[in-house]
Amino acid sequence: MIDSHAHLDSERYVGELEDVLRRAKAAGVGAILAIGIGEGPAEMQCALEICRKYREQGTGIRDQSVPGLYASAGIYPHNAHEADEAALSKLDGLLAEPEVIACGEIGLDYYHEGSPHEVQKRVFIRQMKIAAARKRPIIIHCRPKDGDNACWEDTLALLAEHWGPTGIGGILHCFSGDWDHAERAMELGFLISFAGNLTYPKAQPLRDVAARVPLDWLLVETDAPFLAPVPNRGKRNEPAWVAETADVLAGLKGVSAEEIGAATTKNFARLFGLSLGM
Ligand SMILES: [Zn+2]
Repeated sequence: MIDSHAHLDSERYVGELEDVLRRAKAAGVGAILAIGIGEGPAEMQCALEICRKYREQGTGIRDQSVPGLYASAGIYPHNAHEADEAALSKLDGLLAEPEVIACGEIGLDYYHEGSPHEVQKRVFIRQMKIAAARKRPIIIHCRPKDGDNACWEDTLALLAEHWGPTGIGGILHCFSGDWDHAERAMELGFLISFAGNLTYPKAQPLRDVAARVPLDWLLVETDAPFLAPVPNRGKRNEPAWVAETADVLAGLKGVSAEEIGAATTKNFARLFGLSLGM
């Protein structure tokens, strides 16, 4: 199993990360994509540093007691107002590093309104251009205001204009949209990643969408430390618990949890051009 999205640099893991990673490995998590947004551009490199810490232990071969670790780097929509030229050039430099396989999470957030929409859009487009030049898939955050479709429409329109033509693809992280959004995103080359909210009692509409996404386009993630799946809802989430979301997905698709693990691992490897012989 792959956890395609976890914030391992969260302060909520300080002093416990090693145990968290060992529990993930023991639970069958073969790899984790550590999201590098930090609390803003000043911390964009923290996920990469975590990757390197576990790759460089001992003989220089990665520590086999923890999952394989990869990193992303990006400027979260909430921090778009901090995306000055220095931050954008820092992002470009990070995307040149071999362990930093993705740009993200980037996109639009009309729920928290951390930055004006026009600023969010401008910074989103700039980051797509940087990621395209580095040939790195992008991880999309799209959080609409309740009952308002504008965030999805704006996100999908910008992706169609600035990303679809690159053919590089990406991930719609913590998918929460409807089938129309999923279908349009897949047409633009995006895998659909489901998080712990798929397991929540009120999420039947989301489960109905997940049931329709073809196996070849699915990913699972924790978004840890957020969104812990049932039965640990409300607690600090961790990558080991990606299995709960995979189980729900397996039930929806009518396949075994092992098949979900194999399919999502294959999809992740395909997107990033990795050979994951785990
Ligand atoms: Zn996230």
